Amino acid sequence: MNRDHAVVIGGSLTGLLAARILSGHFARVTLVERDRYPAGAAFRPGIPQSRHLHVLWTRGLRLLEELFPGLEKTLLTAGAVEIGVPSDVLWLTAAGWRTRFEVTRMLTFSRPLLDWALRSRLPGDAPCLDVLEGHEVVDLVPRGRDVAGVALRSGETIAADLVVDATGRGSRAPEWLTALGYPAPPETLVDPLLGYASRFYAIPDGFDPGWKALYLQADPPERRRTGGLFPQEGGRWICSLSGAGGDYGPTDEEEFLAFAKGLRDPVLYEAIRAAEPLGPIRGFRRTANHRRHYERLPAWPRGFVVMGDAACAFNPIYGQGMSVAAISAVALDRCLREDRDDLERRFQKRASRSAAGAWLVATGEDLRYRETVAAPTRLSTRLINAYVDRVVAAANVDRRVCAGLLDVLALTSAPASLFSPGVLARVAANTVRPASPPGR
Ligand SMILES: Cc1cc2nc3c(=O)[nH]c(=O)nc-3n(C[C@H](O)[C@H](O)[C@H](O)COP(=O)(O)OP(=O)(O)OC[C@H]3O[C@@H](n4cnc5c(N)ncnc54)[C@H](O)[C@@H]3O)c2cc1C
Repeated sequence: MNRDHAVVIGGSLTGLLAARILSGHFARVTLVERDRYPAGAAFRPGIPQSRHLHVLWTRGLRLLEELFPGLEKTLLTAGAVEIGVPSDVLWLTAAGWRTRFEVTRMLTFSRPLLDWALRSRLPGDAPCLDVLEGHEVVDLVPRGRDVAGVALRSGETIAADLVVDATGRGSRAPEWLTALGYPAPPETLVDPLLGYASRFYAIPDGFDPGWKALYLQADPPERRRTGGLFPQEGGRWICSLSGAGGDYGPTDEEEFLAFAKGLRDPVLYEAIRAAEPLGPIRGFRRTANHRRHYERLPAWPRGFVVMGDAACAFNPIYGQGMSVAAISAVALDRCLREDRDDLERRFQKRASRSAAGAWLVATGEDLRYRETVAAPTRLSTRLINAYVDRVVAAANVDRRVCAGLLDVLALTSAPASLFSPGVLARVAANTVRPASPPGR
């Protein structure tokens, strides 16, 4: 493959990471984004999910920091809040309250702040990058059955040796592939029918109840509501309420408060009831786990790859999408470093492997709901979930199990690590003689 010019379609998190990686391998990189970027850390229509709680787990932050050294400092300077997890979090799990051990730390900030921080670094960290804002890609430019560039809505075309589709859930890659004569990829859908409703609040002056964040989880299948209240830059909280099984978080003022009151503990309701709302309540329902198995296609065009939510999108409640995007950006870098011909297929296979652990966690949980739209649940999933229930109960009272579980959620360890002899022994001990979980 020539490495003169690469084009990235879509300039959200995946697209920005892809552009950063490609700039180390191509003479020129063009990122085409449909929106015009706002001047600062502000909302834009192309990423409507950015009005909702975004948690960046350890692995994602670590990888982003490697790709954009100094990012954490930029975020902290802009007001991101550092919290201990779970030491600063009142965390109600399906098995009760989690002991507030000091296990790891996390930065909390708004999604627009993260995107702005990355964007503002790109000219320096990727000097060969050209950003084409306000342009929409409507098609691929074919060369036989391969890809030779992109066609814009304006009628222009851009030639490229490699095109990266980072257009998110709405990706048209399946249609583009079939137009080139390839089959559409097989797809897996696990839809828990979950909807978010979110609102910002000013953190009341002098508010100091001994916690910095709240995370009140559902307890499937019956209790389907989750609430998160996290601090962000600008002295505000983001409150995201979500409900699975069609019990969507409501955007009506009174219903929102009633929904919060109906969580498994009133602590979140009590906090927001007394706080000043900053703006309206926003809803979001496009949350299904949706995987397009590009790695399974028997043939694949040269000059084209698909990344991020466009290939595999998760129910966002587990907070994995951005970290998986970062892991697959590193996979793209590795594939480009290898001196082999079949870059595109190697990448699709690696990207699929990068998403596998997160997929297992998200879908395993979502299959607990009776309403979830999916293929029938396998016995193995039910058995694993029964074991995970015990892990969660043990993690509430045993710091080492808690650390192991957080490593899996944060994507620093594979889900299989929960079956290591050390964890199995501690989970068994807690099952035989359960320690009572702490109160709030
Ligand atoms: C409610 C909600 C909450 C979430 N919470 C978390 C969380 O806590 N933690 C986490 O890690 N992840 C979370 N996610 C997932 C996270 O938002 C995504 O994984 C992340 O944004 C990466 O997506 P992406 O860049 O692949 O696609 P997107 O973010 O969807 O971006 C696609 C981009 O492509 C552009 N575009 C689309 N079509 C075209 C076109 N034809 N031409 C040019 N440009 C185009 C769009 O304007 C947009 O900028 C959440 C998602 C949702 C929905």
